[in-house]
Amino acid sequence: MASKKTTPGICYLVGAGPGDPGLLTLKGKECIEAADVLVYDYLCNPEHLRYAKPGTERIYVGKKAGDHTLPQEEINKLIVKLTKEGKTVTRLKGGDPVLFGRGAEEAAELYEAGVKFEIVPGITSAIAGPAYAGIPVTHRSHASQLTIFTGHEDPTKPDTSLNYAKLAQADGTKVFLMGVERIDEITQQFLKHGAKPETPVALVRWATHSHQQTLVGTLADIAAKVKAAGFKAPAVAIIGDVVTERPQLNWFEDRPLFGKKIVVTRTRQQAGVLSKKLSQLGADVIELPTIRTEPATDQKTFGELVNDCHTYDWIIFTSPNGVDAFFTMFDKLFNDARCIGGVRIACIGPGTAEKVKARFLAVDLMPDKNFVAEGLVKAFKDHQDMENVKVLWVRAEETREVIANELTGMGAIVDEAIAYRTVAETEDNLEALARLKAEGADMITFTSASTVEHFLNLKVALPEGIKIASIGPVTSAAIKEHGLNVDVEAKENNIPGLVAAVETFWK
Ligand code: SAH
Repeated sequence: MASKKTTPGICYLVGAGPGDPGLLTLKGKECIEAADVLVYDYLCNPEHLRYAKPGTERIYVGKKAGDHTLPQEEINKLIVKLTKEGKTVTRLKGGDPVLFGRGAEEAAELYEAGVKFEIVPGITSAIAGPAYAGIPVTHRSHASQLTIFTGHEDPTKPDTSLNYAKLAQADGTKVFLMGVERIDEITQQFLKHGAKPETPVALVRWATHSHQQTLVGTLADIAAKVKAAGFKAPAVAIIGDVVTERPQLNWFEDRPLFGKKIVVTRTRQQAGVLSKKLSQLGADVIELPTIRTEPATDQKTFGELVNDCHTYDWIIFTSPNGVDAFFTMFDKLFNDARCIGGVRIACIGPGTAEKVKARFLAVDLMPDKNFVAEGLVKAFKDHQDMENVKVLWVRAEETREVIANELTGMGAIVDEAIAYRTVAETEDNLEALARLKAEGADMITFTSASTVEHFLNLKVALPEGIKIASIGPVTSAAIKEHGLNVDVEAKENNIPGLVAAVETFWK
């Protein structure tokens, strides 16, 4: 029994799901977090690897059809060796590990070697793929039975383990994996053994990924359609009347931004919210961070200003990054939240305000809608006389001087705490850059003037016909300065505003 092994190492054979980053199980995620080594292949979404703790070794063992980066025997040896070394090994496989995943073979090798292992089931493409194409594998009116088979074997070979006569006659839905290359032979076998030529068939390629593609036909014509469309693996194929449900149930491909490839240029840390919202609307997001924030060069002066923050009438925050940098310093200097004193707090917009509120501090002033420096200046004008009012403005090294100039003009005494600086991102974007060059994109989003500057510094040619979306007037001005067009500008100058504008644009 595997559970009685006493060696310290363990190998988790984990199903990583079909691709959608949300379709990893909680247990699968725990196994990734616990891993010393991750061994993963082609169909495992590399997104999952971000759950690994820093320093976790990652070994890609490939396995695209016809391109075995590492032969199966070598993979077996590798996981046995790593586990015997006492490591926690997480072997990630696409879909479910024991549905055509050779998980059983790997488990058997681990058993033979006398090391501990566990099998963590995953969401299989055989069921999730159809579901994401609006095709339920069983249905009260169409199918009470499901047969899953491999399309990898040549049906015309005498030693095939599949009995096509039985498959063709079986009731219910038939799903096959690894069958795009043999679609012609497989459909021929079905027809030869009496299946109706008009039986509906669907193929779902890169199912559950944002670039999912679906092709629908019948047993009689699907092979020709695959050829004509140049439809390639990996795809799951569904044969049966359940395919007729697709027009009503095709929720995934019906989302408003499905089929649109959109580039997000914010910092890696900040990209998350924008990318997530766009993905939820169906977009295929390329995260291409062009900038990164770093602590301000002069930490001493910044520290002194933060140290005196309670002596001001107002602290002004003009970006979420500023709030983060301010409180990182604040927490180094003080161990009591009350050290901020009775100072009032102004924020440029809701994103910044959210960060302040997360510290359980109220925001006293914010523009109604115009979430730019001018909007905040106007809010102050409407709010109070600024004569001799002491203001600490927490800002980036590179930013427009509007706040300081205007408030000083109104009689305020403004000190500027330079909290962070924006530098070009040069390391974290190589894969995204390659993707953008190879595949192009439908739209690129800019969320600040600095994302525009740094993107253009990358010297990547903008794909032809690409649309440009801007978060607001300042960013738009930076775009136009470089002779580019702004196709969409957010009405509300924040992330939800930008997302809404993008959605309306593609309607
Ligand atoms: N264990 C996997 C299947 C491995 S066999 C699972 O449970 O999903 C590899 C085949 O699975 C591919 O050739 C393809 O037919 C199918 N497959 C896996 N992931 C897929 C995806 N995201 N979209 C379409 N087909 C997929």
